[in-house]
Amino acid sequence: MKYIFGVDLGGTTVKMGLFNENGEVLEKWEIPTIKANNGEKILPDIANSIKGKIAEKSLNTNDIIGVGIGAPGPIDSNGTIYGAPNLGWGVFNVSETLSSLTGLKVKTGNDANVAALGEMWMGGGKGYSSIVMVTLGTGVGGGIIVNGRILSGYLGAGGEIGHIHMNDDEEESCGCGKKGCLEQYSSATGITRMGKKVLASTDEATVLRGQDINAKTIFDAVKAGDKVAAQIADIYGRYLGVALANIACVVNPEVILLGGGVSKAGPVVIDYVKPYFEKRVFHGSKGTRFALATLGNDAGIYGAAKLVLS
Ligand code: ZN
Repeated sequence: MKYIFGVDLGGTTVKMGLFNENGEVLEKWEIPTIKANNGEKILPDIANSIKGKIAEKSLNTNDIIGVGIGAPGPIDSNGTIYGAPNLGWGVFNVSETLSSLTGLKVKTGNDANVAALGEMWMGGGKGYSSIVMVTLGTGVGGGIIVNGRILSGYLGAGGEIGHIHMNDDEEESCGCGKKGCLEQYSSATGITRMGKKVLASTDEATVLRGQDINAKTIFDAVKAGDKVAAQIADIYGRYLGVALANIACVVNPEVILLGGGVSKAGPVVIDYVKPYFEKRVFHGSKGTRFALATLGNDAGIYGAAKLVLS
């Protein structure tokens, strides 16, 4: 049996998994992300944890195919990261550095793209080879895979669909500094923001008034038949549906996966997007399916492992 390590590097923890070549996760564990001194300990800590696991399991290094790692930031196909402010990192080659620390083959990708690869391998996108994965969390993350390959682009900024411009009239700024980005409407934060606006603009009775407004309470209210909540969900769905229709014109995916915190509300998050997608999409992409991501927080380690195999 051959083995692979999958590493999902986040701002607070590093999730790690030991996989066999069939994609079965044999063990999962986490170590803290120590960001002191521009994150200089991060890769040595990961290398030590891998070496520790190899020793603990008495694995033969000849049986280890390699290490895959997903990291936050633009990363090109050679493994060079073009800065990761979250980690204190500048520009350097992650694959080469981790490879020299471990003596193993290393492949590196952007965390959102890698999560999409994981979902395609063992999650909601299993059986497909061209997918768009949208992660609806604090922001809107994106991962695009075309014919089995991650679309990372020139400097690794491909798939940043949260910053597609949607609204010329927006007055508030997005986290990126521009105004009118998709994630200002369709992320968990964006849904909450639009929810507060809608509530302030109407006297209509709603269960949302007087309670904490967030993506969960809004979608709970939608499921309970609340009309104002449905109006808020409609704003989320319209922006995301139109953005995905535009993306489909470029990449023609087989399936679009919705994941991240908002998607925990279930199939209702698709119900509000699909009609707008179908209304706007070019006829050549009409058959695009929608599904929910299924791997949750493990998508990153699965995708990282798959990176080594692809
Ligand atoms: Zn933006």
